Amino acid sequence: MSTFLDELNDAQRAPVLHKDGPLMVIAGAGSGKTRVLTYRIAHLMEQGVDSFNILALTFTNKAAREMKKRIATIVGNSEAKNLWMGTFHSVFAKLLRFDGDKLGFPSNFTIYDTQDSQRLIASIIKEMGLDKDIYKYKQVQNRISSYKNSLITVKAYFQNPELVEADAMAKRPRMGEIYQNYVDRCFKAGAMDFDDLLLRTNELLTRFPDVLMKYQDRFRYILVDEYQDTNHSQYLIVKALSDRYQNICVVGDDAQSIYSFRGANISNILNFQRDYDDVAVYRLEQNYRSTKNIVNAANSIIANNKNQLEKNVWTSNDDGGQIIIHRSVTDAEEGRYVAGSIFENKMRHQLQNGDFAVLYRTNSQSRAIEDALRKRDIPYRIYGGLSFYQRKEIKDVLAYLRLVINPKDEEALKRVINFPARGIGQTTIDRLVVAANQYGRSVFEVMEHLDKLNLSINAGTKRKLDDFVTMIKSFQIMNEGVDAFTLSEHVAKKTGLLLEFKKDGTPEGIAKMENIEELLNGIKDFVEGQKELADATGSLTEFLEDVALATDMDKEVGDDDRVALMTIHLAKGLEFPYVYVVGMEEDLFPSAMSMNTRSELEEERRLFYVALTRAEKQAYLTYTQNRYRWGKLIDAEPSRFLEEIDEKYVENLTPINDGYRYKSLINADIFGEVDKSKLRQVKPQNGTPPSVQHPNENQLRKLRKLKPELSAPTKSGSDIDPRLVEGALVNHTRFGRGKILSIEGVGSDKKAEILFDQGGVKKLLLRFAKLEVL
Ligand code: ATP
Ligand code: MG
Repeated sequence: MSTFLDELNDAQRAPVLHKDGPLMVIAGAGSGKTRVLTYRIAHLMEQGVDSFNILALTFTNKAAREMKKRIATIVGNSEAKNLWMGTFHSVFAKLLRFDGDKLGFPSNFTIYDTQDSQRLIASIIKEMGLDKDIYKYKQVQNRISSYKNSLITVKAYFQNPELVEADAMAKRPRMGEIYQNYVDRCFKAGAMDFDDLLLRTNELLTRFPDVLMKYQDRFRYILVDEYQDTNHSQYLIVKALSDRYQNICVVGDDAQSIYSFRGANISNILNFQRDYDDVAVYRLEQNYRSTKNIVNAANSIIANNKNQLEKNVWTSNDDGGQIIIHRSVTDAEEGRYVAGSIFENKMRHQLQNGDFAVLYRTNSQSRAIEDALRKRDIPYRIYGGLSFYQRKEIKDVLAYLRLVINPKDEEALKRVINFPARGIGQTTIDRLVVAANQYGRSVFEVMEHLDKLNLSINAGTKRKLDDFVTMIKSFQIMNEGVDAFTLSEHVAKKTGLLLEFKKDGTPEGIAKMENIEELLNGIKDFVEGQKELADATGSLTEFLEDVALATDMDKEVGDDDRVALMTIHLAKGLEFPYVYVVGMEEDLFPSAMSMNTRSELEEERRLFYVALTRAEKQAYLTYTQNRYRWGKLIDAEPSRFLEEIDEKYVENLTPINDGYRYKSLINADIFGEVDKSKLRQVKPQNGTPPSVQHPNENQLRKLRKLKPELSAPTKSGSDIDPRLVEGALVNHTRFGRGKILSIEGVGSDKKAEILFDQGGVKKLLLRFAKLEVL
């Protein structure tokens, strides 16, 4: 009898052993949903289900890889290889490569990333002569994306007076035309954007019953992780594919639904029982991931949401430490606290960098954390944000490679037709685009037939366009005989891209050259890796697809030991021994944009639940009183979520009204200088001001030595220069001369609004600002 089933508790084993028919596992964070899914696949295979008949959909490709690895250890590698596993996007991109031709797409279609889509939309808006301040390309792209995710095609759009009217009211009456043009242009370019991968799959499965039957027959067992975050388009695909055999297994947690802004629909999970007959519902309640304090604190948070399924999550793990709340004065100081605490925990508990994660609500918060980690020489990796593949020089190389595979790819063509410069001007490009629209052809096809078309392009330019076409065609011929690496290296050299950056000679140019080399190394690794796989050949098409569909979590290079920095959204499904959730402030978390309705606020709360439940051993929640946002220093208030945690599970290191010295003591503690047990007694009692432990002279001296910014006056700020008053003239080391317009706050929180001769008005915290009174 297999032993892997012993690694499950009874409640988990039941859905793993469940025979055929629909089943749903609804359970809180860390209760083993992903484990159940993984083991169910292994069990099915042990029971003789052919691995070709199983489809598993995960939140990231990395999660799929990890699952596959685990399954391989149970059923053997060669069988596990055949599983279709991955994100919705990557799985259905693969399907469309086989059958997309029925919809008129070539099998080598390009995948447009968000930037490509936005560029195309921007140029359509321009070509249509519309006001770009009203038709903002990012907003337009967002609208189109949400139509697609709700399966509103162009035709459906025009048939829906409400939508047409809504756009007219928003002063964008030509939205539908833009949508139409965008779809036409993508089609002509043989390109699909991310949303198309789902929309076109739906179209394929609806319009071609034989194709639907083929895949229903193929995917007899379908499993979906994180089902609470599927959107309508994904829901319909799963529904269609599972319709015949009804062997559908979904796992999820309504309390972790956090993607409604991308169209995820929590009712997919709530309606599952209505959608299928005889659904078996399983619940898991034991959390294996976190300490009692973390589990209980998380439960107390989610209890504030009205619209949640009732769940009773518990754990037999240790109590663990209380959740630590820490306040700082600025975001820079918050960063230093986090870095200091990571440093101390590493030393004290002999941990690796990889045991720590810092989570935030928005990407821009990472900078202060990064600065602080760098200063302490703690290696980190940022997930999300601008990834390697989105850098300009990398996109340039990729654009050439995309053209080799699909010369109709208009966005790739426009990107590199004159880069490196070869004397093809914007006017020429515009003429080519107009002609392409007129003849219903791609720009590249127009370029191939220049001599037959009567375009006003002079002979010299025509020759240059011919040369470009010939160059791309020569790459195509080469591509038939060599692997992706050899071709890419040739392309980088032959197009003059490498030389272009080398010629530049500046440090930036050299960095770009090195990045291109890094890309080539990556392609080499990819080719080597793919050669080992059964159904892959290491071709350029495969590489480009991999790049286009790598989710932010997947863009991982190397396995070295680093602290992970990412948004909470990206952290879904992951776990780390130590987790810091930073920026616990009103308007940031909950986000100012998501407080208009109860359901928005509840989604923010679910996001907080996700954040806290990533922690295994210890969670830290930090906030600051002042934060730079949009280039301005603003007052920040502690997040309402902090108060929602049952205080039994919390240790508030810096209660709200305790003055600054207390905080310095805590900072001293990071350096191991203060006995923490003494601090416990200053936990806030309702209404009574906390008794403050004053650092002694010796401690203060040490503090000053360790943290220079603390050598600024700390005694309630009483030694801030008294001459710093309204109207005073001052000199600032960076901003120069200025005049104080107003002063606000007291003690160490005192701020001045200053009008600088050169830099306009700035609000500065006097404790940090090095101001000289003139
Ligand atoms: P999330 O909601 O965050 O996605 P989840 O419900 O998918 O969480 P898993 O990630 O599958 O939970 O499990 C959480 C942790 O508990 C993992 O480290 C997993 O290996 C471990 N675990 C799950 N079940 C057991 C078990 N029966 N015995 C020991 N460890 C377990
Ligand atoms: Mg999971």
